[in-house]
Amino acid sequence: MKKHNFNAGPCVLPREAVEAAIEAIRDFDGTGIGLLEISHRTPGWERVMAETEALWRDLLNIPDDYAVLFPGGGASTQFFEVPANLMKTKAAYLQTGVWAKKAIKEARFFGDVEVVASSEDKNYTYIPKNYTIPTDADYFHITTNNTIYGTEIHEDISSPVTLVADMSSDIMSRPVDVRKYGLIYGGAQKNVGPAGVTFVIVRRDLLGSSERKLPTMVNYSTFIGAEPRDNSMFNTPPVFAIYVMYQTLKWVKAQGGVEAMQKLNKDKADLLYAEIDRNPLFVGTAVKEDRSLMNVCFVMAPGHEDKETAFMTFAKERGMVGIKGHRSVGGFRASIYNACPLESVEALVKCMRDFEKQ
Ligand SMILES: *Cc1c(COP(=O)(O)O)cnc(C)c1O
Repeated sequence: MKKHNFNAGPCVLPREAVEAAIEAIRDFDGTGIGLLEISHRTPGWERVMAETEALWRDLLNIPDDYAVLFPGGGASTQFFEVPANLMKTKAAYLQTGVWAKKAIKEARFFGDVEVVASSEDKNYTYIPKNYTIPTDADYFHITTNNTIYGTEIHEDISSPVTLVADMSSDIMSRPVDVRKYGLIYGGAQKNVGPAGVTFVIVRRDLLGSSERKLPTMVNYSTFIGAEPRDNSMFNTPPVFAIYVMYQTLKWVKAQGGVEAMQKLNKDKADLLYAEIDRNPLFVGTAVKEDRSLMNVCFVMAPGHEDKETAFMTFAKERGMVGIKGHRSVGGFRASIYNACPLESVEALVKCMRDFEKQ
């Protein structure tokens, strides 16, 4: 039976990227040696690093005065690297979910943190709107897509202070006006690759702005090489994860770039939300205007709560994988990232209809 992968992360990757990675493990770049067995100093690898960075710059229109880095450690490591590098005395955070809360906790090790608004009062089902960003903060941190709760900030907001964004789960899903941000980071394993590599896009004039003495590996400047091909090569980079990311970005480009991704993502999300709104058995958890195009969260409608296990079994029997909601929301979550085909969303919608008929 065909499986439809709705895992929240790690998650579905483009088939082409997976196949290319398998081939590269056997034989990297026609060298007769596998990707996992070469030195990261071989010229073929340096070319992959340079091309991966070039794809990021091309797809997101990243200006030259921004550095693009690929460290390890995941987004969770950035929760403390961001304040270590950018916070002198104070930072402001928007608390829109568990990941934002974790980022806030780490930032408190480095100075004052002002939480300008939080949607915790309603289990993070909405994005707070009317808040004031303090102008004495060194930066303002947002989480653009709340993977667990299925809410998303759909536009590049304006901030009077440096804007920092955790874009782990919606990077490359839409065009981004990079100029509006001082720093963008995330783990690759939601929308741009496998686990193991992190992306950091940082405006160069912000480097060293905390004036703090930093351990070498915490300092972003460490990852900027003398030559572009030396970027992210201070120590051994996560070679395999970067290679799969490289292939994933080539796929994004071949599909028509982030504009094409946005259109496809919108079509998929519209289809699924329309069914959730139509089908009397289900109800969405996020407020409509803040609904995520990446993670679609829904529960059984009032009066039908007892059918949750039955639907889970029904869906599983029809090849649906990874639709169990996060424990803090319950119900269901379908993650429909870039590489999730429209066909999978259509199959899930059909499954919801068939369950209703039955
Ligand atoms: C998954 C996720 C994280 C955590 O990423 P790791 O790479 O596992 O540390 C952080 N923020 C958001 C928005 C996420 O979706």
